[in-house]
Amino acid sequence: DTSMTVTVIGLGPMGRAMAGAYLDRGYEVTVWNRTPARADSLIARGAHRATSVAEALTANTLVVVSLTGYDAVHAVLGQAPSAALTGRTVVNLTSDTQDQVRRAATWLAELGAVQVTGGVLTPPPGIGTPGAMSYYSGPLEAIETHRRALEVLTGIDYLGEDPGLAALFYQIGIDMFWTGLLAYLHGQALAEANGISAQEFLPRALNAMDLRYFLEFYAPRIDAGNHAGDVDTLTMGAASLEHVVRTAQASGVDVSLPTAALDLFRRGIAAGHGGNSLTSLLGILRKGVG
Ligand code: NDP
Repeated sequence: DTSMTVTVIGLGPMGRAMAGAYLDRGYEVTVWNRTPARADSLIARGAHRATSVAEALTANTLVVVSLTGYDAVHAVLGQAPSAALTGRTVVNLTSDTQDQVRRAATWLAELGAVQVTGGVLTPPPGIGTPGAMSYYSGPLEAIETHRRALEVLTGIDYLGEDPGLAALFYQIGIDMFWTGLLAYLHGQALAEANGISAQEFLPRALNAMDLRYFLEFYAPRIDAGNHAGDVDTLTMGAASLEHVVRTAQASGVDVSLPTAALDLFRRGIAAGHGGNSLTSLLGILRKGVG
């Protein structure tokens, strides 16, 4: 599809960045947002303001949706008569669980619309910049049809036909993102409690967060079911985490994060994996048992 027209529904920071990227590329952009004032700066730049969801949907075949979650998706799309959705390609870049995403895809399909699911892997300032990526899943044909328009926003990492896949991979990534950033923040709290500034700590933090070697080491062993303790053991890890908890205590820093990690190691040891590798904790993480 070479027509450079698109509707953007949902003008939070992400939706505004997306509508802005389309305007930058010369697209004709129609926008709708529950709080109309959020569209003002885009209207000033030449976007059309839809006064209803139905008007926004019927304006263009390609509809990009960026809302807080799928409750909002249903609250918004449900405002239009279902005929307004027929024939639309709804590129839903709203975050939610894979089940919610699949249900919405089925609902839209019943109305004669196609949902393309996306999970955006960049903050709003990254939209429209080289290197930005999103996970996509859903009908490949629809993605190919609108590839040019999608790539105005970010690159495409296509995961497969199942609409839930983009949501699943996105949530897994966000799981790691928040716990990983909290690990950084906890390290910085320890540094700060000992008079070390964030800037001074930064090169060491970058080094500590660079886990590539370990991921590449463990992934094939996990797939092979090899949790041998030839390089690391849970017993060693627990002793090491006890030192961390004591260091945090002595520094007056909250211990909930390393304590949660230590608790997982202890559960692994109690389940008989003391002599096995960190990866033997997967059994505990998957089922809550050893
Ligand atoms: P926001 O939550 O700030 O934006 C939410 C949008 O949803 C607003 O337009 C808001 O309308 C609308 N909305 C929420 N609830 C309702 C409702 N019940 N009825 C109608 N409209 C509703 O999110 P962002 O713009 O930051 O992000 C959008 C999506 O992109 C989210 O799913 C987010 O997880 C994802 N994402 C965000 C990133 C980021 O860094 N911001 C990064 C990657 C993904 P109103 O203006 O009226 O409140």
